[in-house]
Amino acid sequence: MDLKECELCPERRYGQGAVPGSGNCKLAQICLLGRNPGEKEDEGGRPFIGRAGRKLNEGLLFAGILRNECWVTNVGKCFTPSKVTPSAACLKMCRTTWLLDELASLQQLRLIVTFGNQALQVFEPLAKVGELHGYSFEVDRLWKPEERITIFCSFHPSAALRGSDVNKMFLADMSKLKQLEKENFTNASPC
Ligand code: URA
Repeated sequence: MDLKECELCPERRYGQGAVPGSGNCKLAQICLLGRNPGEKEDEGGRPFIGRAGRKLNEGLLFAGILRNECWVTNVGKCFTPSKVTPSAACLKMCRTTWLLDELASLQQLRLIVTFGNQALQVFEPLAKVGELHGYSFEVDRLWKPEERITIFCSFHPSAALRGSDVNKMFLADMSKLKQLEKENFTNASPC
């Protein structure tokens, strides 16, 4: 089945079709992982191209990371209206049917930056972003359990848009991400 044809869960009814990840799957070393597409993403068919995307771009400037060198995607593939949180069952369906294969296809992947609880909980089901934001940790690659992958946890850019305190914490997370990159990957591209 093609992602665009997926009708495995009821959330498909809200939007025009599933929104796939975007980037260069052969070269991207960093995956930026959000929750699910918003209205603009549903219209444009690409993740993080609306207001949250602009906040994400601002955060990436703080982190010294070039968006076009990342893979950008979401746990949930379909748009839900602003007051509708995607159900845990649908997010699980998306994760097992689409996300793990997508991550497996990223040939150079070394870091996943999770934005918000739903992205974090793919890797740490009981964790809360309020407790782990700004930290990195290693987990088994769920798609290849004999290998490990680094996760960096951040507040979601949409949460940063809703309040100045969260915005400060989001930008501080992005500065910590820059530090992590500097310490671990000395030839990471400066920005
Ligand atoms: N929020 C997300 O989590 N993902 C998007 O693509 C847009 C908004």
